[in-house]
Amino acid sequence: MAGRIVVVGSVNTDLVTYAQRLPAPGETLLAEGFLVLPGGKGANQAVAASRLGASVTLVGRVGDDPFGRQRLDGLAAEGIDISGIGISPGVPSGIATIVVEPSGENRILLVAGSNALVRPEDIDDALLAAADLVVLQLEIPLDTVASVIARCPGKVLLNPAPAQPLDPAMLAGLAFLVPNQAELAGLTRRPTDRMDDVVAAARQLVRQGVGTVITTLGADGAMLVTRGRVAHIEAPVVQAVDTTGAGDAFIGCFAQTYAETADVDAAVARAVRYAAFTVTRHGGQASYPTATEWAAPKELHA
Ligand code: ADP
Repeated sequence: MAGRIVVVGSVNTDLVTYAQRLPAPGETLLAEGFLVLPGGKGANQAVAASRLGASVTLVGRVGDDPFGRQRLDGLAAEGIDISGIGISPGVPSGIATIVVEPSGENRILLVAGSNALVRPEDIDDALLAAADLVVLQLEIPLDTVASVIARCPGKVLLNPAPAQPLDPAMLAGLAFLVPNQAELAGLTRRPTDRMDDVVAAARQLVRQGVGTVITTLGADGAMLVTRGRVAHIEAPVVQAVDTTGAGDAFIGCFAQTYAETADVDAAVARAVRYAAFTVTRHGGQASYPTATEWAAPKELHA
C-alpha cells in the first residue's frame, strides 16, 4: 500500500500556564510560566504519522484568527496536506486552556470552537476513497464521525476520545477501535482494571462488529483483540517524564505502519515502542520524533 492516511479531526491550540496552585474565586495569582503549543487529537495523530513518513491529509476546521493561522502554517510545515481544513470566520479556533501545578497535575478547559463546525459535507468522497486508512476521534461532531464511518466501511480507525456513548451502528463498520483503558470502560460499561477484564470488554465490542480492538494500557503496552485472537504487546520499560499525547503518538504510528504494510501485528508492535519513546520527552507533539530521530536509541528497537 502507498501509505495514504486521511485524518478527520480536531485542531487545537494549547495555552499552558504553569502555576503553584489554582487561584481562589476573585484571587489574582502570579504564575511561573506560559507556553502556546499545537494540539488537538486529530492534529497530533496527523503529525505523528507524517513525521514517520506517511502521506497525510488532515480534514478539519479552524477559525479566522491568529491561532488558526498559526496551526495551518505549522501543519503545512510538517508536510501535511491542509487543503481540507476550512476556515470559519467569526468563531474561535479550538483552544485548550491548561493549568499545570508543580506535581504535574493538570486541569483543562476545552473550547471546541471551529472544531464543532466540521460537517459531513466538508469531507470529499474521492479523498476518502483514495485513503488506505481513515482516522477519526471524537473532538468533532458525532454525526460527522458517523457519516465518515458509514462512507468508508472496513477502513476506519476510531479513537473514541474523549469518551462518550456511541451508537452501536457506528461500531459495526469499524476496522479498528483504539481506546485507552478508561475509554474502553466507558464504552462497554464494564470494569477494565485487570487484563482479563480488558479482553472481555474488547470481545464485547468485537461481537458488536468492530474488526480489531486495540486497547492502550499505558506502561503495560497494548492488548489486541480480534475474532478468535488475543495478543498482549508489552511496552519497553522507560523513564516516563510526560505522557501527554502518548495515545495520539500510538495511533499516528500505528496508522502510518498499517497504511504502508497492511500488517496489523507489526503496526501495533511499532506503535507501542514509538509511544513509549515519546513519554521519555516533554510535550505533546513536541515529543514525537521523525523516523530518523527515532532510529537513534537502539534499546527501544529490541
Ligand atoms: P492515553 O495517552 O490515551 O491515555 P496510554 O496511557 O494507554 O494512552 O498510552 C498510550 C501508549 O503510550 C501505550 O500503549 C504505551 O505504548 C505508551 N506509554 C504510555 N505510558 C507509558 C509508560 N509509562 N511506559 C512505557 N510506555 C508508555
